Amino acid sequence: MKEDPSASRRGFLRNFGFGFGGGVLRVGGMLGKLEKIAEAAQNLDRKVGFALVGLGSLATNQIAPALLKSKYCSLAAVVSSDPQKLQRWSTQYKLPENCLYSYETFDQIAYNSAVDVVYILLPNSMHSEFTVRAAHAGKHVLCEKPMEVSVEKCERMIEACQSAGKQLAIGYRCQFEPHHLEMIRLARQQVYGPVRLIEASFGFRLEGAEQWRLKRELAGGGALMDVGIYALQGARYLAGEEPIEVTAHETKSDPEKFSEVDESIFWTLKFPSGLIANCATTYLVPGMNRLWAGADQGSFELTSAFGYDGQKGQTHKGPFSFPATDHFAVQMDDFAQCLATGKKSKVSGEEGLRDVKIITAIYESIKLGGQPVQLC
Ligand code: NAD
Repeated sequence: MKEDPSASRRGFLRNFGFGFGGGVLRVGGMLGKLEKIAEAAQNLDRKVGFALVGLGSLATNQIAPALLKSKYCSLAAVVSSDPQKLQRWSTQYKLPENCLYSYETFDQIAYNSAVDVVYILLPNSMHSEFTVRAAHAGKHVLCEKPMEVSVEKCERMIEACQSAGKQLAIGYRCQFEPHHLEMIRLARQQVYGPVRLIEASFGFRLEGAEQWRLKRELAGGGALMDVGIYALQGARYLAGEEPIEVTAHETKSDPEKFSEVDESIFWTLKFPSGLIANCATTYLVPGMNRLWAGADQGSFELTSAFGYDGQKGQTHKGPFSFPATDHFAVQMDDFAQCLATGKKSKVSGEEGLRDVKIITAIYESIKLGGQPVQLC
């Protein structure tokens, strides 16, 4: 029998303070944020339930294992077009039949009170459809990067989640990783003086010619949309201000393979303070993976900056390091904490939209032969 989704959600919200906007956890003012979160977690009779939509490489190799390591989150449902895949996941993760959905039956997730968050792990141009459907089903959304392939589609996602009173966050895992957090601290606290220059680059060699990442309709763009976005994010979170102008250039060594999407792009961002960020991305060669900041009295950098692990920190004075963390587990736990406390995620839909606006301007500059494009 179907449950009434609004009734079960109301009960959950009442008991555990989960919600967005008004649903703030009611605890004494003396408790610190972490204590509130710990108390919320203890009060839960279960963890925050995640439904994964799109059971491809990221879902299989990173997200499902991360959910097993997570403090506050667990796998509650899966969504795929492949019935055999659903059965395999059901067996492996002990998911009951009524927690397996196809893309067609996905909207029935509204009646599944075990699901709090829908995590969208589909090709880029499918993110908005499933975000809007998830919001209509009364679920919070964590959506992989890039948020979508156009500004308009991102805006639709934000509007749908706002109207439904649900949180929307984007899969910017590096914003939760300790080495990146240290880079941000060094920049913000001006430990070596004000940052003047940033170099950020991320790329890899994309093998094969038959996949959605090479199709404009599904990917929206090439290396820039896929991994250049990490370099863009890195430049923005180190700068701590929004860029006002971008210039960009594109090169292609294999115009046939990359007939629909970009292969390598180099771009420069200007910031209001005068800070300049030089960024690059590629699908041509392996090993492009660095975040560097030059300040008045020194420099600091990460190599293997944007991978799933292996970050190496270095300042002009010597190395720095932190214990390895699962980026996805810490991001999902942060999202659970945001839901528990009513705080908006720092990687909100608006943050995803900002990147897609800048990416659009980068493509515009390329079209204009490298002319500067103003960002407002
Ligand atoms: P993938 O190709 O391995 O998986 C995509 C899934 O979507 C598959 O299960 C596939 O069956 C399904 N799908 C549904 N309709 C499809 C269609 N028309 N064409 C192709 N596949 C279709 O991709 P992935 O690497 O898992 O990437 C999924 C999303 O996650 C992308 O948005 C990507 O940018 C993002 N991603 C993020 C990270 C990260 O570190 N945050 C890493 C990898 C991928």
